[in-house]
Amino acid sequence: MAAPAAAATLKRGGLVAFPTETVYGLGADATQAEAIARLYRAKGRPAFNPLIAHVADLAAAQAIARFGPQSLALARAFWPGPLTLVLPKAEGCPVAELATAGLETIAIRVPAHPVAHAILTALGRPVAAPSANLSGHVSPTTAAHVASDLDGRIDLIVDGGPVAVGVESTIVSCLDGPRLLRPGGLPRAAIERVLGHPLARVVTDEHADTAHPLAPGMLASHYAPRAAVRLNARSVAPGEALLAFGPAVLPGAADAAAVLNLSPRGDLVEAAAHLFGHLRALDRPGITAIAVMPVPMEDLGEAINDRLCRAAAGREAEQT
Ligand code: AMP
Ligand code: MG
Repeated sequence: MAAPAAAATLKRGGLVAFPTETVYGLGADATQAEAIARLYRAKGRPAFNPLIAHVADLAAAQAIARFGPQSLALARAFWPGPLTLVLPKAEGCPVAELATAGLETIAIRVPAHPVAHAILTALGRPVAAPSANLSGHVSPTTAAHVASDLDGRIDLIVDGGPVAVGVESTIVSCLDGPRLLRPGGLPRAAIERVLGHPLARVVTDEHADTAHPLAPGMLASHYAPRAAVRLNARSVAPGEALLAFGPAVLPGAADAAAVLNLSPRGDLVEAAAHLFGHLRALDRPGITAIAVMPVPMEDLGEAINDRLCRAAAGREAEQT
């Protein structure tokens, strides 16, 4: 029986590829930040995009997100199935900040596949699971596709045969009114029948293949601190907070308004796991700027730098 072994591997922070009805997913326990960091690394993703949390049923979803009447109606109509809902996080949501890329919202889905369901039930925790392919490759619809991309990079591949749908889930955000973020396995018309009205389409930078791109900032698809973010800091100015990386001590650090270190030993998995939590902790009233020490561009450093640049740019755009 594969599900108990898969759940045990996930529980100790391992990476497990498993079938869903859409495509094969690469799963990690969504509550373990370092497991999520290793997941991004295994995929070779150059950026931390928020991941979809997979849960066994609606009750498990309600433990991590807040539903309103419309999201509840959609969940009842289409779960389990290829519909992902983006919702406000619930109070005390245990999902790691890295899995949601620091956002206050969370994308959730209940997959309709017996193997996925068995694993989620056995683990009893949300599982973050993007498609089980290397970044830039097509999504895998068989275990053999997964193996050819990820063999040696992950702990377990659960073979459930070819998947049925073959395209990703439809993503609908239910924040201030339902909006279509990504077309996918569930047709728009089916969703509109349940809602009783047309579904507005929002094009984010990640899904900007058609139509008009959104004005930056209209959809909070990136975590943006209120404090200014100063990258590649070689010293700390008076009043600045310091986001450190590695063992070096910068000039001025002793007088910093606050200091947090992404990884004192310079480990990029640990740094990724701490990234959003530390940024958020330093982004508090009284701190106007966060100086960030350089993070090497290798391995997960590329994704860490991508998010730091976005955090810095968001603020600059606002100031000009
Ligand atoms: P994938 O796992 O590769 O199918 O991609 C997941 C998609 O869900 C990404 O395109 C994300 O942009 C989207 N997503 C996940 N969480 C959120 C969120 N909180 N808000 C908006 N989009 C999200
Ligand atoms: Mg994908």
